[in-house]
Amino acid sequence: MIIMKTGATPEQVAEVINEIKRFGLRADVSQGEFRTVIGVIGDESVADFARLAILPGVKEVMRIETPYKLISREYSKYLENGAERFTVKVGDVEIGGEEPVYMAGPCAVESREQLFRIAEGVKKAGAHILRGGVFKPRTSVHSFQGLGAGGEDDAREALEWLREAGERYGMPVVTEIRGESQVDLVAEYVDVLQIGARNMYDQDLLTKVAAKGKPVLFKRHFGASVEEFLSFAEYIAAEGNKDIVLCERGIVPVGKGKSYTRYTLDLGSVPAIQRETFLPVMVDPSHATGRHDLIFNMSCAAIAAGASGLMIEVHYNPAEALVDGQQMITPDELKETLEACNRVHRVLGKTVV
Ligand code: PEP
Ligand code: MN
Repeated sequence: MIIMKTGATPEQVAEVINEIKRFGLRADVSQGEFRTVIGVIGDESVADFARLAILPGVKEVMRIETPYKLISREYSKYLENGAERFTVKVGDVEIGGEEPVYMAGPCAVESREQLFRIAEGVKKAGAHILRGGVFKPRTSVHSFQGLGAGGEDDAREALEWLREAGERYGMPVVTEIRGESQVDLVAEYVDVLQIGARNMYDQDLLTKVAAKGKPVLFKRHFGASVEEFLSFAEYIAAEGNKDIVLCERGIVPVGKGKSYTRYTLDLGSVPAIQRETFLPVMVDPSHATGRHDLIFNMSCAAIAAGASGLMIEVHYNPAEALVDGQQMITPDELKETLEACNRVHRVLGKTVV
């Protein structure tokens, strides 16, 4: 990381960037009103830091020894408005700010009627962002794969409904991009691009999604350590896109016999991640538990743990849902849950330490 002097000229900044490029590396430039900070992207060991340190306009040069430096608190400390929190703005919604943000909607978009009915319900219940899968990651090829599987026209139609429903009920929209071939199409329609747990490790997908410049909802893989999760988030930041919302959605349960939950919701990761990075962290209790009867408790617990918000699957009649019916709650249950979460939040206040 290179910290420029106050009053360093644009030419001096450009020279540092050129020097970094000469080493075959890339630069992450954070330009403040008074101070510019330049992060080095790539294998730093090939860079001659002593040489960078004597370039005109350079105040200080230091190595940050973490695989996720661009999103680290250590790095942000040196930025001018070295924010304790970093917020991701999606339309009028601010994720990571003072108030928790709630994303809700069906697991999968199934029809226009289904989506609009759920959108109306979640809006009334207090949700801020509408979710709905068009391309579903499924374990079995014989299961419903989402309307996007019907080809581009079907995908466009479903994405259009999502956008329309968001506009009608005043909510930005989020949907998952399951593969590189879907990036351009999905980015045309939605406000937040979701990378699902199964794709957390797909660095080519991350890079391509990041380059769209839209906020990214990045879910933790169920077998990933926190360090891996943050290291892969860094691939998004390295494209110059720091509008990243991390999402804890549970990890693989351990032991023999029944686990009683679909995954193990790792709530300790929420404050742990917040100590490492300035990015907001949300929690998805739906996929983590796989059980509608646990959503209320785990939502409250997530907010108590300091989560910046929740993602919850909702259906007016979970029994008829084509995907994940067992973990969906109704709009009335969502309302009750979000009201309780808001009470928890009011009592505990800002939980980032
Ligand atoms: C989803 O949110 O639709 C989803 C499939 O979740 P995950 O990637 O966490 O399994
Ligand atoms: Mn689901």
